[in-house]
Amino acid sequence: MLVINNLKSSIEGKEILKGINLKLKEGKVYVIMGPNGSGKSTLANILMGNPIYKIDSGEIILKDQDISNMKADERAKLGMFLSFQYPQEISGVTLSNFLRTAYNSLKEKRIGLLDFKKLLKEKAEQLGVNEDFLTRYLNEGFSGGEKKKSEILQLLVLNPNIAILDETDSGLDIDALKTIASGIKNFAAPDKTIIIITHYKRILDYLDIDRVFIMKDGLIVKEGDKDLVNEIEERGYEGLE
Ligand code: ADP
Ligand code: MG
Repeated sequence: MLVINNLKSSIEGKEILKGINLKLKEGKVYVIMGPNGSGKSTLANILMGNPIYKIDSGEIILKDQDISNMKADERAKLGMFLSFQYPQEISGVTLSNFLRTAYNSLKEKRIGLLDFKKLLKEKAEQLGVNEDFLTRYLNEGFSGGEKKKSEILQLLVLNPNIAILDETDSGLDIDALKTIASGIKNFAAPDKTIIIITHYKRILDYLDIDRVFIMKDGLIVKEGDKDLVNEIEERGYEGLE
């Protein structure tokens, strides 16, 4: 469903991605781990079409369609979603309004206010966040955990086909972590592809994962099943070649 062929990318003359190859299927949960600076976020941004990052060579194929040159909003309309590693603060917009605007910009048919409220309420309940949270101004005074919860709520509301979650589990206490993990579990389905980028084994204890990729210095250097995570935990990334 999502195929990445020999993807290379550089920023300001420095090669960051050095030939990434991946084949990702529907109905699977993938994990990408790797040391800081290995290029994980760069890969996530390139997959989404962030214009800051340029593809030097290689291609990204989504359901037999080459999307390498598509703009981010076109990719989003095709069902791709990226969480933000550092969610932005926007004041004066409630979370509810923000989500409705995002929803309407993606879908063919605009959703009425009442239908949207219903959808949002259902998803908020699934995630276990209360209704007050929805009327808060976006990210203003949100704790780290609340920002991450609002990202997962956005995931549930927008309901993409491919979800790339870049460090959605960073800096969470155990309760927030469980909420995030249960949100991801609720989202998982036979027609979804989930890519979790993380530093920590913690969140993986709460999720069923299918395949783990280790990224180092712009390349996927190893892949394996869930056990690979334990191996990394014991031996670190250094032992990998
Ligand atoms: P990771 O997410 O694995 O920690 P990144 O993809 O964020 O790694 O970064 C990979 C490398 O690319 C790092 O050396 C980083 O400094 C560099 N890099 C990433 N984004 C930018 C940018 N916008 N401008 C300049 N260098 C960048
Ligand atoms: Mg990163």
